Amino acid sequence: MNNENCRKDLLKAVKRVVIKIGSGVLTGDDGLNLPVMYGLSADISALKESGIEVVLVSSGAIAAGIRKMQMTSKPRSVSQQQATAAVGQGHLIRAWENAFEVYGHRVGQVLLTRDDLTHRRRYLNARNTIFTLLSWKIIPIVNENDTVVVDEIKFGDNDNLSAMVTNLSEADFLINLTNIDGLFDKDPRDHKDARLISVVEKVDRKIAQFAGTIPGFLGKGGMGSKIRAAKKVAIAGAPTIIANGLKPGIIKSLFEGHEEGTLFLPEAVSLCSRKHWIAFTKSPKGEIIIDRGAEIAIVEKGKSLLPSGIKEVRGQFSLGNSVLLINEDGEPVAVGMVSYHSGNIRRIMGAKSAEIESILGFKHDDEVIHRNNMVLTALMDEGDEACRLNV
Ligand code: GLU
Repeated sequence: MNNENCRKDLLKAVKRVVIKIGSGVLTGDDGLNLPVMYGLSADISALKESGIEVVLVSSGAIAAGIRKMQMTSKPRSVSQQQATAAVGQGHLIRAWENAFEVYGHRVGQVLLTRDDLTHRRRYLNARNTIFTLLSWKIIPIVNENDTVVVDEIKFGDNDNLSAMVTNLSEADFLINLTNIDGLFDKDPRDHKDARLISVVEKVDRKIAQFAGTIPGFLGKGGMGSKIRAAKKVAIAGAPTIIANGLKPGIIKSLFEGHEEGTLFLPEAVSLCSRKHWIAFTKSPKGEIIIDRGAEIAIVEKGKSLLPSGIKEVRGQFSLGNSVLLINEDGEPVAVGMVSYHSGNIRRIMGAKSAEIESILGFKHDDEVIHRNNMVLTALMDEGDEACRLNV
């Protein structure tokens, strides 16, 4: 298949996309670049109207704060940078809110730290919030919670954040908009013959070297971090495009399948990192015995675990713990991360998903274990190998 068809097919299949927009796109000499923001809002609104869900990862808080405070450069001390982000984040989200209002869309601000995604309960909470916003047709706008992060709990840059958000929100595509056209084989600012790389099949040493030969592109938010983010997303099974967010109509053009930017293909064997985390990092804290119908649905049809297929719950475990799913013959069939704690699962087992709310008084999810949070035991060996090779 040629590149253009491959792009078209990948983009045609998109149901949920994460669009990351860097400070270089969003800020100009005198603050936030409103014409660019309005142009992007128009494109994103059109995407939404075509039925695609969008999660935005927006940088620009510190840059906006610098301009708002009329500083001449980024302050050096961490506390001053955090205070600058506090000033800029409000400005940034208001600008997005105004821009999307023109097209009748609402936004919700989600500020995250890495700590939020490494603690299972908070990870699930962040995921639930994003899913709820999307179900309300609101555009989640994510940024790092710069005002509270210290080095140990930083994502480091919004490229890394956008890769984690792509996995968290179970998006099927990451679009990383920056202020250059994509990945070049040389620094395009110095070399007239620099060639834009249209497709990267696998991020390997050679590709990393391309980024490495571009001075200044390796810092925070540089080409190096964009490639690392694309690699993370590829391992989790989704493609990334790095493209120029300053080009008017770029998002529309990408979704029409035009050859813009650099497309990073998903890697062939992909046990997503979250699944890897569930299957191998977290030891199961309990067991759920499932009936034959649920076993067939899970093993043969790739479905989630619903309360109706549960016969017994063994042990005490919390929301977000990993548990083993055991069939009626006592054989383990899968490991998965639960959306309810053991006490609540006992209360809803055997019931229909539609009854969860009336039994518990609330509902996180229809599923006790969503498919995306489950790994079949039969695939674990293969997945383990895939992860060992790739990560
Ligand atoms: N969170 C930072 C900001 O909003 C941006 C970090 C980055 O661009 O990588 O200013």
